[in-house]
Amino acid sequence: MSIHLPTAYLIAGLLYLVMPLGVWLSLRRQRSATIHWWCIGGVIFGLSLILLGSREQLPDWLTHVVANTFLFLGVALRVIALRHALGRPLHWVWLLAGAVIFALVYEFFHGVLHNEQLRFIWGSGITAALLLHLAWLAFAIDRRDNSPSARWVAAVYLALGLVLAMRSMVVLLNMSQAGALNDDILTMLMVFLGVLSAIVGNIGFMGVFLERLTRQTGQLAMAQARNEESVRLSHQIAQLDRRRSVGEIAASLAHELSQPLTNIYLIAERAHLEVEKAGVQSVGKYLGDIERNTQNAVDILNRIRKFIQSKESQFERVSLNQVVKDIMDLTNDWILKEAVDVSLHLPAQAVWVMGDPVQLSQILMNICRNAIQATQGQAYRHIDLRIWREGNLAHLSIRDNGMGLTPEVLAQVSTAFFSTKSDGLGVGLSISKSIATHHGGSLTISNAPQGGAEVHLILPALA
Ligand code: ADP
Repeated sequence: MSIHLPTAYLIAGLLYLVMPLGVWLSLRRQRSATIHWWCIGGVIFGLSLILLGSREQLPDWLTHVVANTFLFLGVALRVIALRHALGRPLHWVWLLAGAVIFALVYEFFHGVLHNEQLRFIWGSGITAALLLHLAWLAFAIDRRDNSPSARWVAAVYLALGLVLAMRSMVVLLNMSQAGALNDDILTMLMVFLGVLSAIVGNIGFMGVFLERLTRQTGQLAMAQARNEESVRLSHQIAQLDRRRSVGEIAASLAHELSQPLTNIYLIAERAHLEVEKAGVQSVGKYLGDIERNTQNAVDILNRIRKFIQSKESQFERVSLNQVVKDIMDLTNDWILKEAVDVSLHLPAQAVWVMGDPVQLSQILMNICRNAIQATQGQAYRHIDLRIWREGNLAHLSIRDNGMGLTPEVLAQVSTAFFSTKSDGLGVGLSISKSIATHHGGSLTISNAPQGGAEVHLILPALA
């Protein structure tokens, strides 16, 4: 055979010393226990290969028991690294105990039994088992993260482990001599795989981290996009809420003012007739002005009412489950801050309705806000939100464990501008009710039998 085994061991050893340093430096921004154990393991493994390659120059104890224990430690540290990456950490005491037992048994075969064959089989057999375990852990990372780099690490250590296992087997069957520097095809293949594993193993390991970094960056971008979307939706809802509030105020003002204005007009008309009958022309002119201006005011109010009533909404197929999820995302921080326990009961199959998703979100936002506020002051704050379908109807109910509604509140609760809160506008429920009606459904609020209030939204369901 043409290759000089000690030199090949030295090359593999040096590679094992240098490559982990490269890994260490490249991954300096993401240092973790996994990287520390992996790199230290690599360096110790490299030292052991250099010792094995220097068998002709160095004393026997250094190139046998020390070199083999280092070999064990190097692979075991890498096993610990990958177990850590998989969330199955192993305490370093096991490593220490394992190394001591390994070295004692190794020396027992040599010093007590004087059996070099058993000593070799023990050393290479245990190392092969560890290498195969290492490959299995790398495969587990590949399965979990779908990582091609982990697959490479697994493949190279699987090959190395299998060849070392075969070499132990061959020695066990007396088909070859024991010894790390035995000039046979399996030893050469092993050293070749040692060199390859130094390169592929370390680059693959680095790849696992870089792939994870790329994935995390992608996930971060997606989370940011989701966040921006929910901020946009909440702005949209808030704006719609304001616009609707202003609309409701204007509609109510228009309604309330048109009656007294009509009265003023009629009174002015009557006074005009009386004054004309009495022949006081100068006053009649002013009364005519009052009539005209009052009529103008009534016309303006009517135009405002018409404008408010003719607002277009965008109807589409909407999943009530999705509306609930969106609002839960939006209110999540608030719910956490207020320490309210929300139980969601959403059917596995989405309940679909025809409607304007933003308006439906607005209903949910209003009633969620009321429910959260209603539970203030309770030791345990709880909201139960459920959706279900019954025949052609979609149901959504929110029940809270607040104080519920007194009969007086219940009598006026859905009237515009009725509020029992110091900072309440009193339009949330009436807006929600008018949206529900606009969607061909209904919204009711009542006291739940278990206590607290229950808001029940019913809408026509889609197939
Ligand atoms: P606001 O929240 O601005 O007061 P709403 O129209 O949403 O306006 O609610 C009107 C009133 O209905 C509230 O002030 C409150 O008295 C009562 N209310 C609404 N929801 C609840 C609830 N879940 N529990 C008890 N009272 C409620």
